Amino acid sequence: MFASPSSTASSAKKPRGYEWLVLVIMALFACAVTAATLVFLNYATNRREVVRQLERLQSMANYQASLEWQAITVAMSGSLMNDPQLLGEAQFARDAVYEHWNTLSNLEKQGKRFSGYLGFADTDAVLAQLGEALDRYESASSATFGQLNTGMLEMVQFDRQFENYEFSYLQEAIMAVSERNQKLAERATKISTASVVLSIALTLLAATWIVFRLTRLRAKRDVELEQERTMALGESEARFRALVQNASDMIVVLEPDNTVRYASPATQSILGMNADAATAKPFWSEVLKVSDDNKRLLEQARGEAVEVSTRHANGEKRELELRVQQHQDNPDLRGVIVNAHDITKRKRLEHDLRHQALHDPLTDLPNRRYFSQQLEKALAETFGKVAVLFIDLEGIKLVNDSFGHDRGDLLLVEASRRVRQCLRNEDTLGRLGGDELVAVLPSVLDDAGASEVAARILKTLALPFKIEAQEIFLSPSMGISLSSLKQGFEKATPSDLVRQAGIAMYQAKREVKGVLFFESVMGEEAPERLRLESDMRRGIEQNEFTVYYQPKVDLQTGKIVSLEALVRWQHPERGFVSPAKFIPFAEETGLIEPLGKIVLETACREAVAWQPKNGETLVMAVNLSAIQFRNPNLVEEINEVLIRTGLPPHALELEITESAVLGDVNATIGTLEELKALGIRLAIDDFGTGYSNLGHLRKFPVDVLKIDQSFVRGISDAVDDPPIVEAVIRLAKALELHVVAEGVETAQQMNQLKEMGCDVGQGYYFAKPSSSAVISDMLNQTVVTS
Ligand code: C2E
Ligand code: CA
Ligand code: CA
Repeated sequence: MFASPSSTASSAKKPRGYEWLVLVIMALFACAVTAATLVFLNYATNRREVVRQLERLQSMANYQASLEWQAITVAMSGSLMNDPQLLGEAQFARDAVYEHWNTLSNLEKQGKRFSGYLGFADTDAVLAQLGEALDRYESASSATFGQLNTGMLEMVQFDRQFENYEFSYLQEAIMAVSERNQKLAERATKISTASVVLSIALTLLAATWIVFRLTRLRAKRDVELEQERTMALGESEARFRALVQNASDMIVVLEPDNTVRYASPATQSILGMNADAATAKPFWSEVLKVSDDNKRLLEQARGEAVEVSTRHANGEKRELELRVQQHQDNPDLRGVIVNAHDITKRKRLEHDLRHQALHDPLTDLPNRRYFSQQLEKALAETFGKVAVLFIDLEGIKLVNDSFGHDRGDLLLVEASRRVRQCLRNEDTLGRLGGDELVAVLPSVLDDAGASEVAARILKTLALPFKIEAQEIFLSPSMGISLSSLKQGFEKATPSDLVRQAGIAMYQAKREVKGVLFFESVMGEEAPERLRLESDMRRGIEQNEFTVYYQPKVDLQTGKIVSLEALVRWQHPERGFVSPAKFIPFAEETGLIEPLGKIVLETACREAVAWQPKNGETLVMAVNLSAIQFRNPNLVEEINEVLIRTGLPPHALELEITESAVLGDVNATIGTLEELKALGIRLAIDDFGTGYSNLGHLRKFPVDVLKIDQSFVRGISDAVDDPPIVEAVIRLAKALELHVVAEGVETAQQMNQLKEMGCDVGQGYYFAKPSSSAVISDMLNQTVVTS
């Protein structure tokens, strides 16, 4: 993608160089092979000739050998003939034959002479015998003689041949052959030596040339590669530089001594300091100006994000998310990289959310929740007594009725301002709702101390208020309760104290006394709790609890997409008891476990029957309290209910409040992920009333964000600009969450929510929580929304 054109060209040239080189190598090889072949053929021909000549020589040698043998025989015979003794013997043999013959013929003659004297018959037989013997001798002698003669003749013949012709010829031939042979062998050796030398020389030459070319090509390629690398490095460096230069995050590189080596341009927007001006300055103390504590925190974080506060040059507070990474061992960096992300806006939103969650929007006083927290804190931390003042501003209702709510609100704001002025900084004043204010005074010395404050408050409230040029007087009543009221009493809980102060206030009102201290005789309702608990147990056994369902409506289509299961208690004597009252109680006593199971099972069962026939899903939302959420068997139990009722997991949504999931974040994520793995949908309920840590929200695997009613109520007032609820919707969208708005009571609220991008609405405007029979009917029609 980023390849430069020059690198493409050079890569096309390269193969051509190599092809040429290969051609040269092949040609050289062919030459060498041809030369070697010729040398070999020559040598082979010569060799064949030599062999032929040698064979001839061999046969001649054989012939010569036979001649030689014959010559030797002849010579032997010659010497035999020259040997007088042998010759003598031969003559003697011949003579002997002759002698024999003579003897025999003499015998014959004698025999013939004597035949006349002797009997003829006997003489003839002797003679015949003698003749026979003579014949035999004669033939034997002539054979011997003949043989000798023939031998002699032959001897003479061979001798002549040997001497005159054959031997000399033979010798010449041998000489010629061996000479030629010698020459041929010499020539062959010369030729083959020459060709071997030639081919070695050629090969060496070619090899040298190839090595030379290769080295040059390699060098060229190295240069090209280096150029490419430099270019790529340049490009990536440029890209990286551009990124760093244009990043909205501040990126700083520190020397080992923590002075700034490089600071990105975002330093200007984040800290109001020119990046160049920051260079060489000590980063932590002079650029970021963080405290030593923060610095320690950062050092321990090891690359984890750490949130720190600092100030822009213009004095504005800035919240930064810092990541510090050690790159001391990296030779390219040898320093510390600091990445600072500006989270001021997010922090402000979190702060606003938290503030709105904990304060009464009208008076900006702490609301009931925040007040309870403060009271609890005071009880835990205070060494002495804690006083709770319960103030009823009677007269405001009258103003509401006669001058309208706006005037009533103004009066309330002014009254609470006056009360606040009577208190010390460490005291907390809260609004419980309506015209009831409540104050906690930590560490009052005694009753008198509390009375004094009460008197001051009554005095300032007794002064007239001006509404439309008309003077208005309030007639406040006040009740006071004190912790460790009497020795030996069990330490009171926050809710005890508030309730006691309330009881005292009613008593004061009844007696028109202005202010009264709570006394035990005023009807401490200890047995009430016990009664309620046994009532609930009985109620669970006797099926007094039923489940109502409130629809949630898609703001675009107006269709019911989901139902929320809300438990209802129809008490035989008390009548209808609000879940707002018994749910917290059930949580305190642990009864929420059996109760929660009833609701879950009932809701799942009914949801199966209500599933649309067209394949769409009607989601059933069930509330899960913090106590239930901490049950280690939760996932298993829910799975069992799903299996038992046959509701598909994706049709079940669990509503969990923000505060419930924020206990142990890691354990929470674990449980949420297990639930998610089952396929169940997860919703954060009452969003905005809890701690509102948006950073954490990102980590939870939830699908839905339910914006609390109090925010929805706020949108039509449009006090904030832009309303917080819009920011929350934007945030939820950024986190890819489905947004549901609770407590939609008017068409105006619905339209505004729709415009802000909210997906789903729930509230009395669409439908109140209703019995399953009513819901069944409702599901058969489509809810009309506009
Ligand atoms: P929640 O979960 O925030 O439920 C919404 C509450 O707002 C319900 O009150 C509902 O009736 C009410 N509401 C709905 N629309 C409107 C509206 O337009 N205007 C106003 N002013 N109120 C509206 P409900 O039924 O009294 O329940 C109160 C709380 O009790 C619930 O608050 C929930 O936290 C708890 N709760 C109810 N049922 C169960 C349950 O089965 N299990 C658990 N753990 N908690 C439950
Ligand atoms: Ca809910
Ligand atoms: Ca809610």
